[in-house]
Amino acid sequence: MSEPTGPLHFETRAVREQMERTGYREHSMPMFLTSSFVFPGPERMEEAFTGGNDDIIYTRYNNPNNDELIRKVCSLEGAEDGFATASGMAAVFASMAAFLEAGDHVLASRAVFGSTHQILASLFPRWGISYTYVDPLDIDTWEAHIRPETKMIVLETPSNPGLQLIDLEKAGALADKHGLILNVDNCFATPYLQRPAAYGAGLVVHSATKWMDGQGRVLGGLIVGKAELIEQVRFFCRHTGPAMSPFHAWVFSKSLETLAVRMERHCANALQLAGALENSALVERVFYPHLPSHPQYELAKRQMSMGGGIVAFELKGGLPAGRRFLSRLKLCSLSSNLGDTRTIVTHPASTTHSKLKEEERLAVGITPGMVRVSVGLEHPEDVIADLLQALGEG
Ligand SMILES: *Cc1c(COP(=O)(O)O)cnc(C)c1O
Repeated sequence: MSEPTGPLHFETRAVREQMERTGYREHSMPMFLTSSFVFPGPERMEEAFTGGNDDIIYTRYNNPNNDELIRKVCSLEGAEDGFATASGMAAVFASMAAFLEAGDHVLASRAVFGSTHQILASLFPRWGISYTYVDPLDIDTWEAHIRPETKMIVLETPSNPGLQLIDLEKAGALADKHGLILNVDNCFATPYLQRPAAYGAGLVVHSATKWMDGQGRVLGGLIVGKAELIEQVRFFCRHTGPAMSPFHAWVFSKSLETLAVRMERHCANALQLAGALENSALVERVFYPHLPSHPQYELAKRQMSMGGGIVAFELKGGLPAGRRFLSRLKLCSLSSNLGDTRTIVTHPASTTHSKLKEEERLAVGITPGMVRVSVGLEHPEDVIADLLQALGEG
């Protein structure tokens, strides 16, 4: 679906991938807030419904704004085709439900997003779909869990909130060897830092709500990947109805024009914060993929061009210290979101992951004192000063 991109760079494609202009010769893409489209005559309409032309029919199927966003994300991810959904979770769900049927089995990294876990653990079993969790840090053990009925590998890298990495080259080779669909949630890295399709991921999903919008405004999701897989995703989505609003597609397409400059700054600020926290006596450990102390630093350098906008660290003093720290923040926001211009701090053990058992949290690297920081675009010195004063160093 995406146009031949030729020698154009990432930044240029993010800005210039645009639908054809209308008769008004607008410079920037307008918004098509219309549920449906009209036809000049019955023949053309019949053709549209029987696949004889690419005319846009109805916004649950597609819309010029959604098409532009999909084309752009395909171009940035190196994917062939895609579909835009109302939220990241709609994308995650559709990317699995479009393919899985009763009796099928999913191999999933244990460190997946909370609602992805609920789909696998609480919803899919109702429809006879089973799963096995595997250790994100030990991909060489995954093959032993593949069964004849395994159809898909689901993973996120870096993981939330522990920033554990999965070797995409090995995951791609494993999926290929066993004829499985590799489904990668690339939300944390964005296509600016990491492109899973290049390693053989047939499906790449996004919560566009996070870094793609980057300004905490609207919800949305994307599924991009190999054309023959997206064909099935499109069928599933057209008839089950998780379509993205054209208004949100317009917002996201605009947001992506600045993805590269925003991610450069988010990553630089995050690296600076990670370094400052590493020097604090009140911090036990800092996790940031491009910090040399990260246990998977070599892998991070190989598959991510920069370290991303999330820093995790462990406070000394566990849960009580975590609560005290949050209550003392003055600038940074307490919110469960991430990927915003505003720096957001969360304490997973008492909030997003509080419903898990202690051992379940530890299995995905969430210790009682772990804090996640989504580093924003404020001046990094102001963010560092706020975190250090909240830690008790100010
Ligand atoms: C937020 C998030 C989702 C869910 O996206 P929504 O847009 O909130 O539905 C899925 N995966 C990851 C990694 C996320 O961070």
